[in-house]
Amino acid sequence: MKKRILLLAGGQSGEHEVSLMSARSVLNALPRDQFDVTPVVISKQGRWLPPTETQRALDSGEAPTGGDLVLHRAASAEGYDAVFPLLHGPMGEDGTVQGLLTLAGIPFVGSGVLGSAVSMDKIMTKQVLASAGIPQVAWALAVRREWQAQPDTVRERAAALGYPLFVKPANLGSSVGISKVSSAEELDGALDLAFSLDRRVILEAMTAHKPREVEVGILGNDAPIASPVGELRFDADFYDYETKYTEGRASMHIPAPLPTEVADQIRSLALRAFRALDCAGLARVDFFYVEETGELLLNEVNTMPGFTTTSMYPKLFEAAGLNYSALVTRLVELALEER
Ligand code: ADP
Ligand code: MG
Ligand code: MG
Repeated sequence: MKKRILLLAGGQSGEHEVSLMSARSVLNALPRDQFDVTPVVISKQGRWLPPTETQRALDSGEAPTGGDLVLHRAASAEGYDAVFPLLHGPMGEDGTVQGLLTLAGIPFVGSGVLGSAVSMDKIMTKQVLASAGIPQVAWALAVRREWQAQPDTVRERAAALGYPLFVKPANLGSSVGISKVSSAEELDGALDLAFSLDRRVILEAMTAHKPREVEVGILGNDAPIASPVGELRFDADFYDYETKYTEGRASMHIPAPLPTEVADQIRSLALRAFRALDCAGLARVDFFYVEETGELLLNEVNTMPGFTTTSMYPKLFEAAGLNYSALVTRLVELALEER
């Protein structure tokens, strides 16, 4: 019997278009002799599109309008064996859709409510990983009310971290709303921007030198495995939105040219983080490697990483001998696995 799979794509976040690209790749790759796949695109307004409109959105790669309310569709999703929520960012990767699917009783690819929600939130992630003894940059939290009512206390917190520092909305991705702040004069503008996108903001000390950015893929549920380590190189001050999504601005190196002990340490820290955050299925764990000091710092955990055939996560497992089609098949198997 073929498994019936519902592939969710698009979604309400700024990463809508990235998700559509990933979904096209997954649709092509799921073996048709094993799976019956129904794609549903979610519009930026959060409405679930019927088949013809979904197809149009996948073909054009653009944010569509129209569609049904989300709850109506979830109720009618009962006939599926599993859902692949290929959604990035808020309202997709953050536990909300995972909660809906849990309520509907349908198995799905990737982390559950807890792992998704905690990993999406940069502050909660830092807190959980700190308690698991995983090395990270120094950081501080600020909430919008504080910034409005007592801005000086927030400015003091920033000064204590020292400049340059990074200011980030707690719950976004794709570098949206992130600023590198070189001096106190630039702080207010960076905080205003971050608070326009999120109620909670994280301030992070910058690594002592410009770090190398290395990433590792994790695959599995309660017995996860780690891929080889990959490296991103780019010619920009930091890995901002432009650099991420402009063709040719960044290059991927797999395996990353690193001493074996460093690569092994990255894999082992990533597995510890995956367990500490209660992730499942897949995650891409991103690190800063400060070559000058030998420091290895965990930056973030992405529970639904970019998933086109040329994205880092699938490329990491391809290097481990698992091709794209075998990888998506494995992810669906993991979703159906008894835990
Ligand atoms: P996102 O979830 O949007 O990808 P990140 O936390 O990964 O956000 O930050 C985006 C980029 O900003 C990183 O890939 C890196 O280039 C730079 N960056 C972020 N935080 C720091 C830091 N503390 N020190 C040095 N560079 C940083
Ligand atoms: Mg991220
Ligand atoms: Mg990142």
